[in-house]
Amino acid sequence: MKITFGQMGVRGVLVYCHCGHHVALDVDRWPVNVRLSDREPHFICRVCGGRGAEVQPE
Ligand SMILES: [Zn+2]
Repeated sequence: MKITFGQMGVRGVLVYCHCGHHVALDVDRWPVNVRLSDREPHFICRVCGGRGAEVQPE
């Protein structure tokens, strides 16, 4: 996904790990020019410790 949060107008996202764990994040404070694809590699799962979650608009 190449569009930014600002373009989507979303206020929250769901972050899915490959292990099945997911968390809801409030993105109000994120810069509007951040892309989902830029953020995905930076998430670390609290359950399995894995990186590279999938981020979807809430
Ligand atoms: Zn996980």
